[in-house]
This record gives sequence, structure tokens and C-alpha cells, in this order.
Amino acid sequence: MHSPWHGLIHCPECNALHGVLACPICGHAVSPEPMCIKVNGVDHIIPSAMQGAIPWSTFVLLEQIKIESERSIASQPGRPARLSQRFTIVLLFWTLFEVLMDSFYRAAFADLPGDLGDELLRRFPNIGGRLDLLYRRTWRISFWEDLQAEGFFEEAKHLRLMQQARNAFVHGDPEAIDDALVEATLAHLEQVQRGWIVLFNKRCTGKRRRVPIWLSARGRTVQGS
Ligand SMILES: [Zn+2]
Repeated sequence: MHSPWHGLIHCPECNALHGVLACPICGHAVSPEPMCIKVNGVDHIIPSAMQGAIPWSTFVLLEQIKIESERSIASQPGRPARLSQRFTIVLLFWTLFEVLMDSFYRAAFADLPGDLGDELLRRFPNIGGRLDLLYRRTWRISFWEDLQAEGFFEEAKHLRLMQQARNAFVHGDPEAIDDALVEATLAHLEQVQRGWIVLFNKRCTGKRRRVPIWLSARGRTVQGS
């Protein structure tokens, strides 16, 4: 499972996520040259290192999706074939998407005065409102339309299917997530994340305050206290 996060770095100047030496958003360049540091009078050459972009929660959830996708199907005589044995893949990926959107808004609202950003997120606690009304009020377009505007039509369509199926599932319809949706989710996994990264760079960069995507919720709490 190829991760779009591989090789991606976080720009310390504008908050963008990219995989090249010069940030495509603000032009900030990082040096690939190794550094020489002296320890006890001896020179040590240290390879150039940059902050990776992937958040810890994203890494954990992607690892779990990989484990679940490789799990063999158990023989369960009597279990209706319409019930997917791998429905957790859809639930895990939707969880990942919600976590990413939470970070998205925290970065996008970083410059709002006081705790207005937190207040807005409290007023729109559900992902449906955050993808539609809150997104529309902030950027005059819905998340889905923004994703499509960047060329991710199939990904926007699949995310909406996932959202409907996941809602039906948590409201008592276990058949809402079938094997076809699980397979489609795995097929779209990489491109959905790429689309999210494109929108993050479009909407969450260039702020005076920067909330790096790799900063975990726990890290944000510590930083803010
Ligand atoms: Zn930058």
C-alpha cells in the first residue's frame, strides 16, 4: 500500500505539505547539504533531516487498515454473504478522514481571534456540517465541490458514498458496508489522501500562526497550555 505521505515534508514557513526542496507554495528552500557538528573536538557529518509531514494518528490508522486488508477471510458457515467481514476498513478510513478534517480546520482557523476557531468547531461538531455548511461559510464552496474543482471527482463521489454507508452502519444497518464498498475504499485510499493534501495546501497555508499537520491533538493541548 503506497502512502502519499512518503517523502512529504512540512514547510516551516507556510505550513504546506510537499515533497520537493523548494516549497511550491511560498518558495522556502531547504538545504539538502549535510551538516557538520563538532562533538568533543571531533567533526561529525550529519545528513540533512527535515520534519516529516505525516501525523502520528494517520500513520497508526493507515497501518491498521493495511493489517485489516491483509487479513484472510474466515470461514463462517451460516453468515450471510452480504455482510462484509472487512467492514472495519471503511470505518477505519472514515475515522482517518474525520481526524484529518479536524486538523485541517485547526490549521485553517489558526489566525482567527481568541478561541473563535474552537467555538466554530464546537458549533459544527459533526463531519457533515464541517464538509458542507462550515466549509461553505468559510470558502463559499463545499468541501465536495472544492475537491472536484481540483480534479478529484471520483474521490469526492466515493467519500460521499462512504459517509452515507458509515452513517447507516452506525445507525443499525450492518449491511450498509458490503465487500464492494470495502474494495472501492481500498482502491481510492491513496487518491483521497492526495486530494486532501491538495486542499490542505490550498486552504491552510500562509497563515500568521501555523498549526503543523503532524502536531497531534495531545501535542496541541500541551502547546496551548
Ligand atoms: Zn512554504
